[in-house]
Amino acid sequence: MKSDKELATFASKRYGQNFLKNQSYITQIIQAMPKDTLPVVEIGPGLGDLTKALLRSAKDVTAFEVDRRLCEHLTETFEEPIRQGNLILKCGDALEHWEQESLLDEPYHLVANLPYYIATNLLLKALHDPWCQSILTMVQKEVALKFSAQPKERDFSALSVLADSVGEATLCFEVEPEAFVPPPKVTSAVLSIVKFSSLDNRRFEDFLKIAFSQPRKKLSKNLSGQYPKEEIAKIFTNLGLRENIRPHEAATSLYHQIYTALEQKDTPDGKSRQQPATQAKPKPL
Ligand code: SAM
Repeated sequence: MKSDKELATFASKRYGQNFLKNQSYITQIIQAMPKDTLPVVEIGPGLGDLTKALLRSAKDVTAFEVDRRLCEHLTETFEEPIRQGNLILKCGDALEHWEQESLLDEPYHLVANLPYYIATNLLLKALHDPWCQSILTMVQKEVALKFSAQPKERDFSALSVLADSVGEATLCFEVEPEAFVPPPKVTSAVLSIVKFSSLDNRRFEDFLKIAFSQPRKKLSKNLSGQYPKEEIAKIFTNLGLRENIRPHEAATSLYHQIYTALEQKDTPDGKSRQQPATQAKPKPL
C-alpha cells in the first residue's frame, strides 16, 4: 500500500489520475446506483477502490483501464473475482473500445470516476450507446452542471439538451479536491443520468452546436448564421417564441420543435426527410 505522497508521485497527469481515497464518497456512489442486477461498466478503475465496492455490492463489473502499470496491479489485486468471472478487466483505451457501438453487448450501467481530460467525450459516447441504461460518474463540477442544468439556468447548454432528450440528469453531490490523491485543481461532482433512450441523430447535435454557438447572443442570431433569416423568423412566430430569446432560455422540447420545422423546410417539397431528433418523444413545454 502506497502512502499518499508516493501515490501523488506515481499518479500520471497524462491519464488524468486523481484517486478517490475518501471511503464515504465511494459509499455514497454505491448508494446512488440503480437498484437492479444489471452489470456495471467502470472506466478507469485506477487502484480499484471503487471496483472493490462495486464487486462487494454483488455487481458483475467490466473495467477498462488504459495505464499498463495499473492493469498489472489490478490483475494481482482482483485475481479471485477475475478467475470467477465477476470482473472482466480490459487493458486499453475505453474510447477505442467505444469505436464499436457499445462497451458491452447487453444492458449495463456506467459507474466511474472518469478521467477529466476526456470526461465530456466519454459521457457523449455513453449517451449514444444503446446498451448503456444509466450513467453515474464523478466528473469536474462544471461538466456535471453543463449536462444537468435546467432551461433558464446559466449553465443550460447543448449538452443539457442532449442529456434531457434521452434521460434525466441530476447533479447528485459535490466532492472537494481533498477527497482525492493527488487533489485535482477543480471541484468535482457526481452526475447521474438515467436514460430512457439513446442519441441517434448527428444532424440534431450539429443543429444544437449552431444554436449554442454564441451562448449569450440571441438564439435567432445564432441560427440565422446557418439558416435563412426569414425561415427562422417564421418558425419563431409559429412557435410563439420571443425574437430575443437566448439559447439557455429555450426548453428542450422547443429545440426539438425548431429542428423539426427546419428539417421540413430543407426538402424541395417541404415534406419531412428527417429522423426524429432522438428516439425519445419530446417532453411537453
Ligand atoms: N477509479 C479510480 C478512483 O476512483 O480512484 C481512478 C480514477 S482516475 C480520475 C481516472 C482513471 O482513468 C485512471 O486510472 C486512468 O488511468 C484511467 N484512464 C484515463 N484515460 C483512460 C482511457 N482513455 N481509457 C480507460 N481508462 C482511462
